[in-house]
Amino acid sequence: MSEDRYQQRQQQLKERVEERVAAATKTGGIIIVFTGNGKGKSTAAFGTVARAVGHGLKVGVIQFIKGTWENGERNLLEKNGVEFHVMATGFTWNTQDKGDDIKAAEEAWLEGLRMLADASFDLVVLDELTYMIPCGYLALDEILTALKNRPPHQSVIITGRACHRDITELADTVSELRPVKHAFENGIQAQKGIDW
Ligand code: ATP
Ligand code: MG
Repeated sequence: MSEDRYQQRQQQLKERVEERVAAATKTGGIIIVFTGNGKGKSTAAFGTVARAVGHGLKVGVIQFIKGTWENGERNLLEKNGVEFHVMATGFTWNTQDKGDDIKAAEEAWLEGLRMLADASFDLVVLDELTYMIPCGYLALDEILTALKNRPPHQSVIITGRACHRDITELADTVSELRPVKHAFENGIQAQKGIDW
């Protein structure tokens, strides 16, 4: 490609990018969903939390499901002013009592509801929320209403596989993590600092 042709192409590209940037005039909080079967959903959520904290924003995290062992992100982020609430029961397949699970989910959700109604939170993470809906632990309508009524500048991140369609439709950004391969399938154990 000649130097002239190259320059012309770069110029066209630059104009197209600038047009699209100029067209994005709206501001305000957004809903992001990280879903799919591949690894990286919670990792992406906590990467965003690190960004937000780095800019001095106020962040709240509710972790549904997990709860029986310490997790690295909580150790770090709590020290940096992030408010954490972890559902107390651990993984659902470890627990037998549905009543206890529902109670724990509702308790965690109440903390989430409070954050979603509190304009001092810039970002609220609802990690592994998606599983609470098909299990019947939380009501979809209540979740949608809280998301719609949140303060306009507040962003929300929801993670988990098989996200309900009504939530992905309401969301502004939805990314699906696709498993190409995973170390676990090759017999490699989950590791501290990598998987939790
Ligand atoms: P991560 O927290 O590593 O970003 P994730 O949030 O995308 O994972 P979860 O289903 O919440 O996925 O993960 C629960 C645990 O299972 C984590 O320790 C994670 O590393 C692991 N994991 C995630 N995806 C897979 C997979 N495709 N196969 C096996 N293990 C997985
Ligand atoms: Mg996760």
